[in-house]
Amino acid sequence: MFDNKESRTNLSELGEFGLIDHLTRYFEIKRTSTNIGIGDDAAVLNFEGDETVVTTDLLVEGVHFDLSFMPLKHLGYKAVMVNLSDVYAMNAEATQITVSIAASNRFPVEALEELYSGILLASKKYNIDVVGGDTTSSTAGLMISITALGKAKKEKITTRSGAKANDLLVVSGDLGAAYMGLQVLEREKQVFKANPNSQPDLEAYSYIMERQLKPEARKDIPELLQALEVQPTSMIDISDGLSSEVIHLCKNSKVGANIFEEKIPLDPTVISVCEEFNIDSTMVALSGGEDYELLFTIDQKDYDKIKGNPNLTVIGHMTEENEGMHLITRANQKIPIQSRGWNSFEDANDEE
Ligand code: ADP
Ligand code: MG
Repeated sequence: MFDNKESRTNLSELGEFGLIDHLTRYFEIKRTSTNIGIGDDAAVLNFEGDETVVTTDLLVEGVHFDLSFMPLKHLGYKAVMVNLSDVYAMNAEATQITVSIAASNRFPVEALEELYSGILLASKKYNIDVVGGDTTSSTAGLMISITALGKAKKEKITTRSGAKANDLLVVSGDLGAAYMGLQVLEREKQVFKANPNSQPDLEAYSYIMERQLKPEARKDIPELLQALEVQPTSMIDISDGLSSEVIHLCKNSKVGANIFEEKIPLDPTVISVCEEFNIDSTMVALSGGEDYELLFTIDQKDYDKIKGNPNLTVIGHMTEENEGMHLITRANQKIPIQSRGWNSFEDANDEE
């Protein structure tokens, strides 16, 4: 995980306040909505009539990330992305984050600096202010909790519950790459364990590994929808896999859905690596997760506005609730969509 053996400063050498100052020294306030940032008892924000969006996520070492192949800088970056993705999924603009960390003394100051370099990069690229956090020690491993704030006009806010029957179901980007990236990284970890001198050629896997290690939240999609004058009727981000997110939209909106297998956007690398691993690429898109793309519904009258946009793919439509949720396969079979799990899906296949 952290290889820089030359300089290794114990956390205790700086003390809690020294450490906070050290880690946060490069953060600047850029947003007009930030009145007071790091350094007081609380941050003070003012959204002037806009709605405020708040979301939080907790990442735990060994549960959500594996530092044997996740560089700390990437982890910091990804931890921010996971949260911003939730703000964009409300059709809102992300504006501030707070960052809380618990680290054991296995982590020197230099390791936390790397983590913070990823957070700094993300905050610059996505134009958000880091306005606070908390720092504490942990007896085992590393934990990061990020809270993201955002704003939006009341009429722009898009929840999971507004989809109507006959709305089109649209997804940004492509699916399944982050999951296949993880499969490659885990395989390489095993190879490396068996033979530490192996020099893997991972060139062919760079896209999917990047999707796993350095995901980008879709800041551009709410902006694009605004420019196209499309107000989505419902929206969610894809953190757990397409099928689980479709189920959330359907349950919350009280509708059903048909997804067409042939429409699911896949990168060519995902298709070839799925073949290599002997996994069905549709299953990976449905159950893989961590894509951080946006899944949303639009009224059919808005179709012409998004038609042909390279960032967006219509993968199906919503139906009446009693019609249920289905995947229409390339062979024109109708398979019920179930939340996650390869096995539950295989069972459904067996029944056909
Ligand atoms: P308190 O004792 O009131 O919780 P702290 O000493 O923990 O205050 O924090 C001092 C300031 O530094 C606060 O503005 C807090 O939000 C900020 N802060 C603490 N830890 C972090 C961190 N890991 N990242 C960013 N800001 C932090
Ligand atoms: Mg504190």
